[in-house]
Amino acid sequence: MSKPSSGVNSGDLQNRKADRASERLSIFDIIKIGVGPSSSHTMGPWIAARRFLGEMSSRNLAGISRVTVHLYGSLAKTGKGHATDVAVQLGLAGVDPEAIDPDDIPARIQEIAFQGYIKLLGQQVVPFEPSRDVIFHKGESLPIHPNGMRFVAALPKEEIIQAEFYSVGGGFVISEKDEIGQQNGVELPYEIDSAGDLLASCLAIDGKISEVVRRNEQTWRTDEEIDDRLQQIYDTMLHCVFRGCHTEGVLPGGLGVKRRAAAYARTLHSQTQAEHTFGWFQEIEKTAQQSSGFSEVIDWVTCFALAVNEENAALGRVVTAPTNGSAGVIPAVLLYFRIFCGADKQAIYNFLLSAGEIGCLFKKGATISAAMGGCQAEIGVSSAMAAAALAEGLGATPSQAAIAAEIAMEHHLGMTCDPIGGLVQVPCIERNAFGAMKAITAARMALKRDPVDACVSLDGVIQTMWETAQGMHENYKETSDGGLAVLIPVSMSEC
Ligand code: SF4
Repeated sequence: MSKPSSGVNSGDLQNRKADRASERLSIFDIIKIGVGPSSSHTMGPWIAARRFLGEMSSRNLAGISRVTVHLYGSLAKTGKGHATDVAVQLGLAGVDPEAIDPDDIPARIQEIAFQGYIKLLGQQVVPFEPSRDVIFHKGESLPIHPNGMRFVAALPKEEIIQAEFYSVGGGFVISEKDEIGQQNGVELPYEIDSAGDLLASCLAIDGKISEVVRRNEQTWRTDEEIDDRLQQIYDTMLHCVFRGCHTEGVLPGGLGVKRRAAAYARTLHSQTQAEHTFGWFQEIEKTAQQSSGFSEVIDWVTCFALAVNEENAALGRVVTAPTNGSAGVIPAVLLYFRIFCGADKQAIYNFLLSAGEIGCLFKKGATISAAMGGCQAEIGVSSAMAAAALAEGLGATPSQAAIAAEIAMEHHLGMTCDPIGGLVQVPCIERNAFGAMKAITAARMALKRDPVDACVSLDGVIQTMWETAQGMHENYKETSDGGLAVLIPVSMSEC
């Protein structure tokens, strides 16, 4: 067991970073279906809680008389606003975040509070009071990462089982016991740890980024399964945008932020009350083809991004890409690609494959955790992912697509994470619209660029982002101890 301290051990972090550089990732690890509001503070702790109990023997599980959850670092400071306490309860109950209807979450949580017990993995009933059994250790950290948590289970004869986990961004979870390079048993046809590796692989097959990625994905899945999964992700994005564009009201958390996407959509399209997601998008496509001026493009892209992140803030169903706080960027750019550039189904699949690979590069070479690198790690990475994917879809060479990602990140470097009230609302929701617009600009700039003339490479900007992350003051790394979060303090009791 690690002793909590007031800070994270940067030596441990560096070692872990080096270990992870060569992990073999599927793009479906980076782009996945989840629940808002946060991949690191909601999805990660949810997955960790399930994993803690799931790794126990059935005998030990049946013997548990009590469970407590200890949250440290950024999870302690912004966990209330990010619904970390809700997430760990759902994880302990064994709920699958991909399968649950997000509308059922409030009832599940109220039931636990009302009954005073929780059914661990749906099997073992133990007394549980969230206010007593989920403990926020503000001012203390575990050694490996700012998003640390410890689960403690009491068994008969005063025996204790406990484990520490870290939510390292994008819903990824590691434990203190994870073996170095344990995922590296998979051999991929194209081993890609850097943008240089990716471009060399493209050269080797004389193909696009998405073609290299598909060949690697075939290690895990058939082509049909890959396409099914991509379609599921795309459909989830569409439903999320549709829901966000048809839901009014005030977001939860006590900050009083009003939803804007629905009103925004009404100003752009008179038939916003279509009952079906797909019919609504077809109607928009028709309207957009008649009127696709600069202002219409900006308005629609903004509207789509706001819609997704309002859904995210309301604990709705989103696609984590690469995080939940930045979940609006890729759908907004993807819909720009479909509606204003005429992308077909195959082009949409290729977009997602390419975007996912760029996200993998940032995870391996830097971070996708705001608690490690600020908002450059969330909005910056999602913008870079979307930029490369859009550039490829519009005809860029692999080198130009890489430059698109570089440009998008270059203009997010140093962006801090300072969410007001620890909620994923301000500045997060609007920031997605800006990330999307920067991605479109970056893709279009890259299309007119000879990569040979570029001063900064994608690998260079990834390295710079990581160095910037390390130099960034802790107050600006998802702690709500700096920036806008202290300018406009919100009582966490309201959240
Ligand atoms: S400021 Fe950026 S990184 Fe921080 S919670 Fe909001 S979207 Fe995520």
